[in-house]
Amino acid sequence: MSGARARTAIVVGGGIAGPVLAVALQRAGIAATVHEAYAAPAGDVGAWLGVQVNGLDALRAIGADQPVLRAGVPTPRIEFRSGTGKVLGGIDTTGGAGAGGAPAPAGVSLKRSELYRVLHGEALRRGVEVRYGSRLVGARRTAEGVRAEFDDGSTATADVLVGADGVRSTVRTLLDAGAAPPRFVPILNLAGYSEHVPAGAEPGRLTMVFGRRAFFGYLATPGGRTWWFANPPLRAEPRRGELEAGTDARWRALLADSFAGDRSPALELVAATPEPLRAWATYDLPTVRTWHDERTVLLGDAAHATSPAAGQGASQAVEDAVVLARCLRDLPVPLAFEVFERTRRARVERVVAAGWRTSAAKSPGAVGRVARDAVMPLVLRAGALRGQDQQAWMRRHHVEWDAPALPRAGAVPARG
Ligand SMILES: Cc1cc2nc3c(=O)[nH]c(=O)nc-3n(C[C@H](O)[C@H](O)[C@H](O)COP(=O)(O)OP(=O)(O)OC[C@H]3O[C@@H](n4cnc5c(N)ncnc54)[C@H](O)[C@@H]3O)c2cc1C
Repeated sequence: MSGARARTAIVVGGGIAGPVLAVALQRAGIAATVHEAYAAPAGDVGAWLGVQVNGLDALRAIGADQPVLRAGVPTPRIEFRSGTGKVLGGIDTTGGAGAGGAPAPAGVSLKRSELYRVLHGEALRRGVEVRYGSRLVGARRTAEGVRAEFDDGSTATADVLVGADGVRSTVRTLLDAGAAPPRFVPILNLAGYSEHVPAGAEPGRLTMVFGRRAFFGYLATPGGRTWWFANPPLRAEPRRGELEAGTDARWRALLADSFAGDRSPALELVAATPEPLRAWATYDLPTVRTWHDERTVLLGDAAHATSPAAGQGASQAVEDAVVLARCLRDLPVPLAFEVFERTRRARVERVVAAGWRTSAAKSPGAVGRVARDAVMPLVLRAGALRGQDQQAWMRRHHVEWDAPALPRAGAVPARG
C-alpha cells in the first residue's frame, strides 16, 4: 500500500506514547490496536514524573489533557538549593502568561503508574482496543502492509506498525539489527512517597538539592505526603539483575550515607517512607539512526529515550504521538514517516543531550561542585532577567492539530 494513506495501525507498547497515539489516530480516522506485553499497565516502583506544559499542550491538541490535569499535582515552580541549604535560584515552569489574564497553566507531577492508568482509561473510554499480554516478537512486510507476530503465536495485520515499546524496543531491533544499544547514564534512581512534610515546604514547589555527594528532589503534595527522588552517582553500569537483588536495607543505608552532612530534609523524608525502596539504573538513546522504513516507525523512548533529569520523557512521548498521528492523517506512507522524523528528530535529540548534561551536573567531583554552586545562581539570574531559563525552550512548544503536517501543500521541509 506504499503511496497510500494508512487506514489501520498496530501500535506496539501500551506505555505513554502508545495509548496517546491510538487516541490521536482515532481522531485522524485511522483504526489502531494497542498491543501491550504485560497483563496490565506498568507499575511504578515508586517513580513519579512530570508532564510539562509542552506535554499538556500536545494532549490538549487531541482533547486529552483534562484527565491528566485532574490526576496530577500542579508544579509551577522549581527551586534549586545547594547541599549547604543555600538557595541557588528557581524557575517558573509555566508556559508564560495564561489566556485572558488567567493564571498561566503549570506542568503537573504524578505517579508514573497513575499516568499510565489515566491514559489507558482515556483510550479505552474512546473505544480504542488494547490487547494486554500481547508481546511482539516479529514483523514482516506483506504486499498490503505489515504482519506482526506475538509471543502467544497470534498474528495481526495492518497498513502500518508503530514501535511505542520503550527504551528496550523490539521494533527498533527489527528495523535495524545493528542499532546502537541504550547508553548507560551514571546515576542511580530511587524514589518514594514520604509521610514527613519538611518545614517550609510549599505544595507544588519542587525543590532540587545539589547535595555534596548526591542529588535529591522533593515535592510536598496537597495529599499530605512528600514525594521524593534521589540520584546517587553510579560510576559503573550494574550487571543484569544486580539492582533488582538490592534490599530495602541496602538502599536506605546508601541514602543515609549519601545525604549525611547535607542541610536538606532528605534523611527525614527517606526515614518516613513506609514502602520498601527499590533502585533502577538510567539509560538514554542519544541518536537512533533508523526511525522508520516503508511501513514501520518508532516514537517515544524507542526512538530517543532521555535521562529523567530532563523531566521530559513523558512529554516528548506525547508530542511525538500527536505529531505522528497528524502526519499519518495528512500524508501517505512512507512520506508521513519522513515528515514525522524531520519534524521531531532535532528537538528530541536536543532534549536527550540536555538530560545527559543535567545528569552530569548532579554528580560532579568536589571542584565541579564548587564551580556549579558559584555559577548556577548567575546563570539563573541572567536567565530570569531575560525572562527565560535554560530549559524554557523545551516547554515553549505548541502542536497545532488542525495545521497541515506539511506547512505548504506538497512541500517537504528541510531536514533538521
Ligand atoms: C522507573 C522509571 C522512572 C522514570 N522517571 C521519569 C521521570 O521522573 N520523569 C520523566 O520525564 N520520565 C521518567 N521516566 C521516563 C518515562 O517514563 C518515559 O520517557 C516514558 O514512559 C516514555 O513513554 P513510552 O511510551 O515511549 O515508553 P514506556 O512508557 O516505556 O512504554 C513502553 C511500553 O511498551 C511495552 N513493551 C515493550 N516491549 C514490548 C513488546 N515487544 N510488545 C508489546 N509491548 C512491549 C512495555 O511493557 C511498556 O508498557 C522514567 C522511566 C522509568 C522506567
